[in-house]
Amino acid sequence: MSAFRDRLRRLGYASYSDYLAGQHWHDVRRRFYASKLYKGRCHACLAPAQNVHHLTYARIGHERLTDLVALCSDCHSKVHSLERERGQRLASVTREYIRERWHRDGTRPRGAGQWSKREQRRHAAVKVRTA
Ligand SMILES: [Zn+2]
Ligand SMILES: [Zn+2]
Repeated sequence: MSAFRDRLRRLGYASYSDYLAGQHWHDVRRRFYASKLYKGRCHACLAPAQNVHHLTYARIGHERLTDLVALCSDCHSKVHSLERERGQRLASVTREYIRERWHRDGTRPRGAGQWSKREQRRHAAVKVRTA
């Protein structure tokens, strides 16, 4: 975690919460929301999305949009507790969690960031609640 802190410091942030409150993260999220990667729904369970989750912090400060995935707060906290339990890399934990979820829900597993045809149809069928 200290390599991560060093990286944040070099970018001029005192902490991760400082980073999350900053203009850069605000702009990245705006680009993410405007992209095809964002459907307003949790990528794992299709509940309304509440979090933009990092698959990897490797490019923190200059993230690719594919480093990010929308999750509901329930799936988001599950992914982070699995990360702590399994001690695996966040990207693998997140992708595994999403695949498990999709498998359980009967959707064809795909890599995070991609939606199957079925997933797109399901998504289109769900009414998005705003606010
Ligand atoms: Zn979810
Ligand atoms: Zn996260």
